[in-house]
Amino acid sequence: MSRRILVLGGTTEARSLADRLALDGFDTVLSLAGRTASPARSVARMRSGGFGGVAGLAAYLRAEKIERCIDATHPFAARISTNAAAACAQTGVPRIALLRGAWQPVDGDRWIFVDDVQAAVRLLPAMGRRIFVAFADGLAPLAALELEFVVRRAEPGPVDLPGARVLVQRGPFARDAERDLLKTERIDAILAKASGGDSARAKLDAARNLGLPVVLLRRPAAPPGPSAPDVASILAWLA
Ligand code: NAP
Repeated sequence: MSRRILVLGGTTEARSLADRLALDGFDTVLSLAGRTASPARSVARMRSGGFGGVAGLAAYLRAEKIERCIDATHPFAARISTNAAAACAQTGVPRIALLRGAWQPVDGDRWIFVDDVQAAVRLLPAMGRRIFVAFADGLAPLAALELEFVVRRAEPGPVDLPGARVLVQRGPFARDAERDLLKTERIDAILAKASGGDSARAKLDAARNLGLPVVLLRRPAAPPGPSAPDVASILAWLA
């Protein structure tokens, strides 16, 4: 019987990885939090919804006889990663994290890293009037600013920022289209998560091209343990 693998997902990378593992003959389950109404399908089996904290995930690992766990969640999804580390330690299930490479600035980038949205609130007024915000959660502190916000989210839904213009667009994004968007929307500065990886990088290249400043939220620290930057390294770990 093939090995049973749990992929914690919610990202494009997780789905690609789960597809690849299933096609390679691993008995693969792709787990989603259940936030997206119609998530892209995977060749792997899919399950949806929280496990119920560390205890719930540990119970799931045991009940489903999971032999390996791959944490391929978004770098800002800190709770599930911490829970996975604890549940895998409790149950003795080997775990690895698929970690996107961090973005590195190049000549012409005007990036400022901050720890949270509250810190961005102190910086943004000096950067202009119209701010492009590339995520839709935790925006309440921005309401204190008398600025115009264009917020992009992947799914239709409420945005906790009264008066914001909301765009529903799903990545991956291309640099030229991002450049057009920033120009059309007359954007003065960008607020984004420093997620890393390829699919969300285009807005930073477009910002450099237009000379716009970018405020980036630092990634939360990943729990300690093994990590791999790509699917090939995960396959090597499984072997
Ligand atoms: P989070 O704060 O780390 O997790 C909150 C709770 O959601 C977890 O405690 C867990 O519930 C459940 N959960 C999260 N990911 C899950 C998964 N893959 N399978 C089953 N349950 C999961 O996560 P979040 O920031 O709300 O993100 C939710 C999902 O969206 C994640 O899967 C993440 O990969 C994806 N995502 C997040 C971001 C972001 O910026 N945060 C961006 C793009 C995609 P229980 O404790 O009940 O198990």
